[in-house]
Amino acid sequence: MNSNLQCPVCRSSQTEPFLSRRGVPVHQNMLFRSQEEAVAMKRGELHLLICEQCGFIYNASFEPSKLDYGAAYNNSQNFSPAFHRYTNSLAAHIAQRMKGSGKRIIEVGCGKATFLHQLFELDEEMTGFGFDPSYEGPETAYNGRLRFVKDNYGPKYESIQADFVVCRHVIEHIPDPVRLLGSIRKALSHSPHALVFFETPCVEWILRHTAVWDFFYEHCSYFSPFSLSTAFAESGFRTGQIRHIFQGQYLWLEASLEHGGKDSGIAAEGEVGGGGGDRLGQAAETANLARAYRERESAVFARWRNRLFELAHSGKPAVWGAGAKGVTFANLFDPHREQIACIVDANPGKQGGFLPGTGHPIVSYTELRRLGITDVLLMNPNYKEEVLQIAENHRLPIKLTELE
Ligand SMILES: [Zn+2]
Repeated sequence: MNSNLQCPVCRSSQTEPFLSRRGVPVHQNMLFRSQEEAVAMKRGELHLLICEQCGFIYNASFEPSKLDYGAAYNNSQNFSPAFHRYTNSLAAHIAQRMKGSGKRIIEVGCGKATFLHQLFELDEEMTGFGFDPSYEGPETAYNGRLRFVKDNYGPKYESIQADFVVCRHVIEHIPDPVRLLGSIRKALSHSPHALVFFETPCVEWILRHTAVWDFFYEHCSYFSPFSLSTAFAESGFRTGQIRHIFQGQYLWLEASLEHGGKDSGIAAEGEVGGGGGDRLGQAAETANLARAYRERESAVFARWRNRLFELAHSGKPAVWGAGAKGVTFANLFDPHREQIACIVDANPGKQGGFLPGTGHPIVSYTELRRLGITDVLLMNPNYKEEVLQIAENHRLPIKLTELE
């Protein structure tokens, strides 16, 4: 077992154990066409530590070689209208920031380029590059204004100048975030005025909501506003604004290069400052939240075991959402498929497949009536309205239970 006891963000050795789980599936969004394969998938250990100096939480037993973000990886959430509206509003925010400045953008870890397409729909003058080793699709789009590179972005691409860099939901998958940021920093050596936008889950939201299903193997790095700004400061960036978005679940950080000049267009201070005087106070707050989470965690486990038992006894429950939360929930509370009948997901690419780790069948909501489903457990409160609407439109005889 690899074990890294030194904080990968601030290099402090003052780290302490926070959460341990054995035999967790290494992937949340792997597609499996057979139940046997889904159950037999690769597993790893969660051995999360928290840093007392910066509040960063990370998996000290993470092994990157276990992961494979290849063709069978499908994490598109844009089949949900609510999620699509959310990413559209982010795209509009970036397009707004481009007004009166250069319009060259780079997306680091563009996946299937869904977000870049949303962006490029908004501005005909935008040009840019999508970087992702697992990108599959045409090499260019929008008459060559958008180009794709099947590689990690880094210093060897420094000749590509950029005004904006966006990186969404990547850094939480990286065991050495300072190295990733340093590499992006070097790649921008010819783009001194570039603004950098990062999006990642907020660990304080997870802790406050005792969201036990939000800790899983793919995410080896969990950031608070303070540890995120510390990682950027350690990498030579100047952190501007950090905001909570997606009803508090995600962080949105804007940064510029340290020597980017006064016209870099970024506020010197945001909601959370980087490297300020109250460093230990901010780290201690995360540590307090982590302690309180640990005290509540076993009660949450007991509550959900009981709840699932009751639902399965009186009816036939399903889980809505085969994303990271749904996969982790099913693996924690129904690893042998004894209580949850199936998982509902709006992504047609997932329907007909089987859930990583447990092998629960993944179905479309149109099957719920035929399957006799009575109750649906909603994995993300942000989709409540949308699920209620679908249930009403299709007269599904289901009761909705929210995770809380
Ligand atoms: Zn640290």
